[in-house]
Amino acid sequence: MTLGLYVHIPFCRHKCLYCDFPSYAGLERYCQGYVEALCRDIAASPYTGEGADTVYVGGGTPSMLEAGDVSCILKTLRQTFCIASDAEITIEANPDSLDYDKAAALADCGVNRLSLGVQSFSDAMLAFLGRVHTAAQGEAAIQAAYAAGIHNLSLDLMYGLPGQHLADVRRDVERLSQLPVVHASIYSLIVEDGTQLKAGLEKGTWHLPPDGTVEAMGKAVHDAMHGYGFHHYEISSYAKGPFESRHNSKYWTYEPYIGFGVSAHSFDGTTRWANIANIPAYIHKAGRESVVAESVAIDAKRAVEDYCFLALRRRVGIDYGDYARRFGKSIEADFGPVIDGLIRQGLLERTERGCCLSEDGLGYGNYVFSKFIR
Ligand code: SF4
Repeated sequence: MTLGLYVHIPFCRHKCLYCDFPSYAGLERYCQGYVEALCRDIAASPYTGEGADTVYVGGGTPSMLEAGDVSCILKTLRQTFCIASDAEITIEANPDSLDYDKAAALADCGVNRLSLGVQSFSDAMLAFLGRVHTAAQGEAAIQAAYAAGIHNLSLDLMYGLPGQHLADVRRDVERLSQLPVVHASIYSLIVEDGTQLKAGLEKGTWHLPPDGTVEAMGKAVHDAMHGYGFHHYEISSYAKGPFESRHNSKYWTYEPYIGFGVSAHSFDGTTRWANIANIPAYIHKAGRESVVAESVAIDAKRAVEDYCFLALRRRVGIDYGDYARRFGKSIEADFGPVIDGLIRQGLLERTERGCCLSEDGLGYGNYVFSKFIR
């Protein structure tokens, strides 16, 4: 088994309006103890000695850590796992905590991919979202990382935001195209429970663009990114040439991954589990006792459902041969009528190897995925 390794850093300078990730502002006092706990947790992993070919340090805002802390975490991962010499090693960064010196120090520790949370190139929108950086800082962070020698650069953008117009989205994508990025994750806003954004929308303080406008934004992103030389390889992900995210692809291709840190998730092929969310409790327990909060054994029914909906996130879709190899039966036996029905609706289309979301289906992913849950 070749693993993907995920490390969660739950600290942020400020909580964004829309964010329901396990991330917390004002808890920097725990940083040092948390890094030490992470290293204990990693060193005590029952998967010690296994091979790994991707590492993803996500958050939260991992770039808030000192490069020395990132170095300790990566060193412990290398001492614990057999990490491939050509492994993809990604760290997420926010523009306010990444400059040339930090990027160069991260590159020295072995980081070879950076994912920058830019979200928008409109200063007014960034302020509304509660982001603590400007558009110019976003661009400067990308240029600094490139100058520091990290050329596998990804950028996140969002659309479907309150007050946003189609022209704003087009402008954002055009500015992205002028930067040295080879990967982009461009998300349609999801309004999550418990966020300030949801409360404001329910009170009528803000309003989302109409569904038709959001659909047009998605199409504009898709068309523009193709024009700028990116291929669309997953619902929200675009890459130039070979620069698809190898780590994220593990999630979509049903490969095993092990997560460290609060709220980190893991999957070993038969069981999924999640760590506790409480930072002090994690610091106390890590490396000494279990930090798992919940664990679910994946039965045969759940396995095929998960496999299908994850595979359909990718533009190449489901490979019927791979399905048969993994599950010992044909997909037609399990989902034949479901697939035929979705093809008739124009939401799926046949490929050489199986089926995938059609261009029309891209906007109805959740509906399509729900049809595979039995
Ligand atoms: S920086 Fe990212 S993780 Fe932190 S609050 Fe904002 S969206 Fe959430």
